[in-house]
Amino acid sequence: VLVTGDELLRVAQRNAFAVPAFNVSDYAMSNGLFELCEEKQAPMLIAIHPDELKFIGNDVICAIREQAHQASFAVGIHLDHGGSFEQVITAIRAGFTSVMIDGSQLSFEENIAATKKVVEAAHDVGVSVEGELGTIGSVDPNSGENGAEELIYTRPEDAVRFVAETGVDSLAIAIGTRHGIYPAGRDPKLKLDLLKEIRSVVSIPLVLHGGSDNPDAEIAQAVQLGICKVNISTDIKVAYFTKLREVLRDPAVREPNVIAPPAVAAMKVVAAHKIELFNAGDKARCF
Ligand SMILES: [Zn+2]
Repeated sequence: VLVTGDELLRVAQRNAFAVPAFNVSDYAMSNGLFELCEEKQAPMLIAIHPDELKFIGNDVICAIREQAHQASFAVGIHLDHGGSFEQVITAIRAGFTSVMIDGSQLSFEENIAATKKVVEAAHDVGVSVEGELGTIGSVDPNSGENGAEELIYTRPEDAVRFVAETGVDSLAIAIGTRHGIYPAGRDPKLKLDLLKEIRSVVSIPLVLHGGSDNPDAEIAQAVQLGICKVNISTDIKVAYFTKLREVLRDPAVREPNVIAPPAVAAMKVVAAHKIELFNAGDKARCF
């Protein structure tokens, strides 16, 4: 069933799990995730970044919507890191049920204004909105997502004001994660105390980006402390393309239907692990 992001995250919040948001711009990957979540009975978000949408094309969203309608579990289609009002409206027209407006590079006041404008438009047509406060770092030039060199942690008092003034449905917070793969020698560390503090003053679902290299135990703890959605991009893409390189070493292979399945299978192993980590397996029954 096709649902909004808000419906997914509210159910996750009530049932102490996190919805995996898988970033895809490749139809084979998307199909593999539908198969996996059907098998695991795990609700999910198919997340697509504006750069990914440009690549895969708006028409594919129609196909993903159709798959979601036919699925036995709850699926939302989410715009990851919408960078402008125009990108958000384009996604809504294409059929997304959830959008993120990332105003984290703007000043606090400008972020509030940009997010509020998106919320007003999106809510009028039943689409959920995720905002971002603080900056999620980037250490990986290969990561398509935005990220600041300097990480600014989300301040609880800012979060309270941001949520009240914008009306967002969920909030991405910066508690020490970064997009992409960490260089050797840099240890990711989550500020779980800060998460607890934000959780105690903000009631809407909280979202975590960029947790690829954080230890599993920390991510699982963050979910127990109130993270309701975790973005997964790098981890599944590394699994997929590592296997793909291996398959392509054989110069005789040329059929996509022969080349892609082993890569999809490798991606599913990683995605299945995330579903377990987020306590999302078998949660289709909660809807
Ligand atoms: Zn992100």
